[in-house]
Amino acid sequence: MSAPERLVSAEVVDDIVLPFSVEALSTRGRLVRLGPSIDALLKRHAYPEPVSKLLAEAATLAVLLGSTLKEEGRFQFQTRSDGPVSMLLVDFDAPSNVRALARFDRARFEAASAAGAVSGSDLLGRGHLAFTIDPGGDMSRYQGVVALEGQSLEDAAHSYFERSEQIETLLRLAVGEIVTAAGRSWRAGGLIVQYLPPAGPGRRADFHPGDAPEGTEAHRLEDDEAWTEANALAATTEDHELIDPTLSGERLLYRLFNERGVRVFEPTPLADQCRCSAEGVDAMLRSFPPEEIAHMVGDDGMIGVTCEFCSTKRVFNPADYGV
Ligand SMILES: [Zn+2]
Repeated sequence: MSAPERLVSAEVVDDIVLPFSVEALSTRGRLVRLGPSIDALLKRHAYPEPVSKLLAEAATLAVLLGSTLKEEGRFQFQTRSDGPVSMLLVDFDAPSNVRALARFDRARFEAASAAGAVSGSDLLGRGHLAFTIDPGGDMSRYQGVVALEGQSLEDAAHSYFERSEQIETLLRLAVGEIVTAAGRSWRAGGLIVQYLPPAGPGRRADFHPGDAPEGTEAHRLEDDEAWTEANALAATTEDHELIDPTLSGERLLYRLFNERGVRVFEPTPLADQCRCSAEGVDAMLRSFPPEEIAHMVGDDGMIGVTCEFCSTKRVFNPADYGV
């Protein structure tokens, strides 16, 4: 099926995933652009700026990876590490909803900040990054884990694709604040580009069959020329282009790949939307015995529960839980 030729749209649309393919190079990818949604998410938490930036990178990465899920399913991204930021948690509920939080030690963060050590890798330290894909329905869950060893989230995710998935991948993440008459606002952008040659005599069929003696390096083919070219084109993406509020996603993709022809598919909208609900909290409270419920009652005689992701506060009557 061939799509009719059309002009590249200059209209900037924020909070979207834009899938694309460069068929001549057996390459596919997705571009994520986050504007008002990431700004609202970060401002609600009001973390220190470097923590906000790191969480926005995590959220962008989670959307990049989770948006392979089409209509339903959940993607969870979580870091656990020994730096000042001990945990980042992002939930992406396909096709659109993102929520995210960070846990950090304020005293350690302030010490790191005073020492000027506030890059993403400084804040994370060492540990691991795990993501869980729950496709929904009867399909089984899948978990991927990659070590955090002082590298950025971008590099950690890249090494996951190289080592675990053995898919040639280029990943870019950018986060920044822009200043307009309306004030400061956060923006984030991400690009994933993958070499996915058609089935048949492609490189995936050429992997070593696995009968090598222990300790033998897996045979690695020379990179395909198509991937070498796609990688070189995509690598020219600048951070400012990923977050530029005046550059449309289509224009950016066209700039990167137009020599080879790029096909851009329908975008999927993204939303800063939590999955918590009064019913969910009620079910959680019902799972506790009355003596534990009694400990949750506040000075006002009620149980107040605040969602750690979206800060929504809900109030429940202890009498409803046998107290
Ligand atoms: Zn919530």
